Amino acid sequence: MTKTVTKTATKDTSKSVRNKKEDQMCESCMMPSSKDPGKPESDKYCSLCFQNGKLVYPGNNLKEFQKLCYQSMRRRGMNPLKAWFFTFMIRFAKRWKK
Ligand SMILES: [Zn+2]
Repeated sequence: MTKTVTKTATKDTSKSVRNKKEDQMCESCMMPSSKDPGKPESDKYCSLCFQNGKLVYPGNNLKEFQKLCYQSMRRRGMNPLKAWFFTFMIRFAKRWKK
């Protein structure tokens, strides 16, 4: 008996897909536009930060904003460590730089 085991190559060799521009990052939360789950309205901000023509979080309290982002990432099922890391990165976004 011959069993033919067909190995399905699950590893897809990622062809470098050229974006129109360099990967743009949200100036508010540092999310690269390629990771944006929605359609960004603004070329400065992602679809989560900027909706209906305005910033979702208009305040300037970084800590509060980070908390909101963390919660929203967790809600989207991101693992806590990753979510924590991205939350940490927010402080380097253009919006929060002084
Ligand atoms: Zn954003």
